[in-house]
Amino acid sequence: MASDNRPVVKVIGTGGSISYVGDHRLDYVDYNYANKHFTIDELLDRVPEVHEYARIESEQFANVGSTDLGPDHWLPLGRRINQVFREEPGVAGIAITHGTATLEETAYYLNLVVKSDKPVVVTGAMRPPTAMSTDTDLNILNCVQVAGAAEARNMGVLSVLNNEIQAAREVNKTSTYRLETFSAHDLGCLGYADSNHQVVFYRAPVRKHTHQTEFDVDGLDVLPRVDIVYSYAGADDLLVNAAASSEAKGMVVAGLGSGGSPAPFTRGMLRARDQGKVVMIASQAATGRVIANRRFREQGFVASDGLSPRKARILLMLALTVTDDPARIQQMAYDY
Ligand code: ASP
Repeated sequence: MASDNRPVVKVIGTGGSISYVGDHRLDYVDYNYANKHFTIDELLDRVPEVHEYARIESEQFANVGSTDLGPDHWLPLGRRINQVFREEPGVAGIAITHGTATLEETAYYLNLVVKSDKPVVVTGAMRPPTAMSTDTDLNILNCVQVAGAAEARNMGVLSVLNNEIQAAREVNKTSTYRLETFSAHDLGCLGYADSNHQVVFYRAPVRKHTHQTEFDVDGLDVLPRVDIVYSYAGADDLLVNAAASSEAKGMVVAGLGSGGSPAPFTRGMLRARDQGKVVMIASQAATGRVIANRRFREQGFVASDGLSPRKARILLMLALTVTDDPARIQQMAYDY
């Protein structure tokens, strides 16, 4: 009997637009109203071509919109992925279907906690499976292709939508409804799951990820709380004080431009620091870094480097499982 060289890919469904059942073919907006979902097996049945690329195993982790996924799901999802790689050595990679709203957050979390160099690839859809010209089927196919590709090993957690393979650390959802929404801005995508059925890479992430990180949270029941406070012209300290009043050991500020905030807001940040909270500054700007400049260093704040506010929060949550030393956490922002 001829040997079967197809890789084993485990497909994990979590929900999202990629799973919603809309009312009709032109329902691009209200399809989540009735909250009806296809299962992951029903979605895979739509794409028999996946079996040309992989031996598929499927499991349904959740079936909800991604605005309802968060740290309480990340912990068991990360734990499950680590269990699969530990106990099922035949699995070559994992493909995850997910809502696009928080896809980049789940992907970056997994990028920091999965203890394997095997591919973990997340996809979603901008148009539900019931809509005309849905991107569901091709995104599922591409996700399985990348999860089974030897070239995708040791690249950290990846996303693939619209044929583009992106690094979890860098990718952001940039558009509310357009298909071309996931972008790493000026850093660019890593490669393509392309129209000629090839998975091609042009570059690899250099920041540490997955098995290279110091985070081991599989034994935790809950992740440290970190909130994000948004800065704006004329902002006072009301919301900073609210964030500082929780039990959280850290907060992220979504700062203006290179990371600044109005003086009353900054005074609230300094009081939070004096209470022993780690204050990490990210930026609302779409591209570029927040740099630990002289003022931020003197103020004892941590700069997020190029992490968006939502990803800075994830790094800080994980960092706080290891240390509350701002200098060590600053180094983590450069390392990861
Ligand atoms: N509401 C959807 C979600 O679950 C949006 C999407 O999947 O694109 O995130």
